[in-house]
Amino acid sequence: MTYYPSLARPSQNPNIPDNDSSAASTSSYAQTIVSPTTSSQEILVQSCQCLAVVVFAVEEFESSCNSGNRIELDGIIAYQKEAINSCRSMGDCSSCMPRRENIMLLILMIEKIVAACGRVVALYRDSSPDWPELLLGDYEINSSMEWEQLIRVLILLQLKALTELLADLKMMGTSVLRERQTTSLVQAEARVSELERDMHAI
Ligand SMILES: [Zn+2]
Repeated sequence: MTYYPSLARPSQNPNIPDNDSSAASTSSYAQTIVSPTTSSQEILVQSCQCLAVVVFAVEEFESSCNSGNRIELDGIIAYQKEAINSCRSMGDCSSCMPRRENIMLLILMIEKIVAACGRVVALYRDSSPDWPELLLGDYEINSSMEWEQLIRVLILLQLKALTELLADLKMMGTSVLRERQTTSLVQAEARVSELERDMHAI
């Protein structure tokens, strides 16, 4: 059996920043974002990189779970966590949130995350007998039952974080959110609840 000490590595993929990384530590690709609502005389320079970080993180999460296998779920969940954390940071950003177009884009990105979470749960449900041996600190995870329970908890934690994010965004209320966006958030919440039920039923 292949030995994958994934959990023993703080960052198995150089593309995944550590959890405490801030938007400022990522590429300057989208340092300057021109708002579609501004004229050429009123070009706004966004002081943060939240949107670029979210777009890249969601793209990486989507591609990891579209091309990944069940045995790679620890890495896929790492991308899932990063995508959700980047949305959380953007939702907490005082530069992003006053701008309606950013809120719309954030909700679109969260819809993509929710869809990809469905794929994560489907991978977990896959009946493949393969699983990787891992080290959790000094603890050796050396049975499929241990690995499955660990992965199950990690997936449920991500779904919980997503539920909390959706609840916080909904609290912005109708003065900020348009009807379409409120509907999207409600639908996303329902889908995440459904995925949580699926995880508990497995
Ligand atoms: Zn921001």
